[in-house]
Amino acid sequence: MKLLEDRIREDGLVLPGNVLKVNQFLNHQIDSELMYALAEEFVKLYKDEEITKILTIEASGIAPAIMTGLLLRVPVLFARKQKSSTMNESLYTAEVYSYTKKVKNTVSVDEKFLKKEDRVLIIDDFLANGQAVQGLIEICHEAHADIVGVGIAIEKSFQEGAELIRNQGVRLESLARISSFADNKVHFVEDADNE
Ligand code: 5GP
Repeated sequence: MKLLEDRIREDGLVLPGNVLKVNQFLNHQIDSELMYALAEEFVKLYKDEEITKILTIEASGIAPAIMTGLLLRVPVLFARKQKSSTMNESLYTAEVYSYTKKVKNTVSVDEKFLKKEDRVLIIDDFLANGQAVQGLIEICHEAHADIVGVGIAIEKSFQEGAELIRNQGVRLESLARISSFADNKVHFVEDADNE
């Protein structure tokens, strides 16, 4: 998606450890119009799927997820990283190793918000090694909910997450696909390879 790629070129900063900093528009300050445009793209891609719920993980997945939920008029559920005192009910849980924070979190979702009748679109901001999305896939499996697919804003295609997801037969759509950070610059997967 050209709009997102242009914005990454303009505002993205490559940090050590293959981390892209996009605090201008996604991970700290949020460009709501850009988030809306991402959501329109996800809706186009998944329009025939009769989605009943968006599932994401706090915190940075919430912005693109909520815009997508708004357009589809379905609820947006986010997996929580810390158990809250208001969540006393039965929970679906998964272990997720955080790429950026290098810690393991148990993420959880209240059972009452995810049902076997649900058709779920998983959304997240970044895909690196796939641990966050894998945790969300496991939570859907625990609930016996159908996974329609995964929508990612920024995929780092040189890391293993994309393959991990596709190997499970789960549809993956990423709006910007980065092939490398060679010379501390962002290089995108060529359009021809994007098909
Ligand atoms: P994964 O679980 O796929 O290894 O990593 C995905 C999660 O780590 C995302 O939810 C995102 O929060 C964070 N993440 C991974 N890579 C990057 C990156 O290059 N930049 C930023 N800002 N976050 C990242």
